[in-house]
Amino acid sequence: MQLRYAPVVEPSDPRANVVFLEQLYHMVEDCAGIQAPAPLVVIENDGALVSPLDGLPRRGLYYAGPDLVLIDDSAWTFWSLKHETVHYLLHYALGNSDPDHTSSLFVTCVELPFAMP
Ligand SMILES: [Zn+2]
Repeated sequence: MQLRYAPVVEPSDPRANVVFLEQLYHMVEDCAGIQAPAPLVVIENDGALVSPLDGLPRRGLYYAGPDLVLIDDSAWTFWSLKHETVHYLLHYALGNSDPDHTSSLFVTCVELPFAMP
């Protein structure tokens, strides 16, 4: 996984820990049964993300072609990473990122418990 993050995330912060973020990514991959090269992930400042579709704030965004996951550095970072990973994996496997969240993977693979580093 290629990771970029805003300076507000300290290097000691788990949100800046690419190994940990990759563990979460692989956890969702295994859950979904879809293997795909990890996308570029950019962690933005809390409140920086706005949907291009409706102009409303978001905790995470996924863009296809080239694949890009944006997540903010709020308390929702890890949930958002798993959620946007499901969009990415569905797009990778099916060519449709399921923007309406009809797939059960958004529940089963996003709510999985995990241990902090
Ligand atoms: Zn979504």
